[in-house]
Amino acid sequence: MNNSRTLADRIEDLLPQTQCTKCGYDGCRPYAEAVADGAASYNQCPPGGAEGVARLAHLLGKPVIPINPANGVERPRPVALIDEQVCIGCTLCMQACPVDAIVGAPKQMHTIVKDLCTGCDLCVAPCPVDCIAMIPVTGEATGWNAWTQQQADAARLRHDRHQARLAAERDAAEARAAARRAAAAAPAATPATAEAPGDTAAAAPANDAEAKKKAIIQAALERARQKKAELAARGEGPRNTDQVSADVQAQIDAAEARRKRLGLDDKDAGDASKSDPRGSDDKPA
Ligand code: SF4
Ligand code: SF4
Ligand code: SF4
Repeated sequence: MNNSRTLADRIEDLLPQTQCTKCGYDGCRPYAEAVADGAASYNQCPPGGAEGVARLAHLLGKPVIPINPANGVERPRPVALIDEQVCIGCTLCMQACPVDAIVGAPKQMHTIVKDLCTGCDLCVAPCPVDCIAMIPVTGEATGWNAWTQQQADAARLRHDRHQARLAAERDAAEARAAARRAAAAAPAATPATAEAPGDTAAAAPANDAEAKKKAIIQAALERARQKKAELAARGEGPRNTDQVSADVQAQIDAAEARRKRLGLDDKDAGDASKSDPRGSDDKPA
């Protein structure tokens, strides 16, 4: 038994790891920390349902209470399904998926890998053509009766990898931006040193343009993440599947307009959102 595990660690172990944000936090780990700190109650996780509340109540030595309806309702677990005839390949759903369960390429149809989908709903609202449906797949079973510990463990691992990938991409973008700033600040090279044909002098402008586009995309993604965090902090996390709020629609419209303005075509968007961001060793849960 590892006694160094914190209360937040033990709470997180009991959560279903769908990473849906319905608890009002940006994933299971932040919610676990909030419960451990006393900032959140232990009845805010609809995917865990009544059984999940009972598990947390037992750990915390507290009474079993109902799920807070403000966070949603316990329901049969759904998986997302894309109407591939309607999909325009905008990649917004891929960017929203916390466990990289969506495969596709810019301006091509996207597909959900059913066995990897946690049913979190987060891809639904960003879709500008409303072609993602959530299909219940567990009959009458809800909460932990519709989701195994193995599935939760797999989803947690995939979310950890997803977060690590985003962090690496952010670091790389920052490094490129720093390199560009350093290059701009350096004295210009004398013409005599740039004689050799086909050397790095020719490649530099292309690399710089590529890096600039990637930095722009990365900044847009970061703004979207911050917006999501602000909504979650106000208790307005993306838990709707029936309609897109005016705020979200405005965000989608702005993102589309920005993409058009920047001329981000197939290849450009593909750099920000790879056709299959899953690791090659991934297997369906
Ligand atoms: S509501 Fe969703 S994100 Fe929050 S703890 Fe439960 S499964 Fe995790
Ligand atoms: S495919 Fe959609 S519903 Fe499924 S895990 Fe990804 S974002 Fe959530
Ligand atoms: S958000 Fe909708 S239209 Fe865009 S790639 Fe996903 S499914 Fe297709």
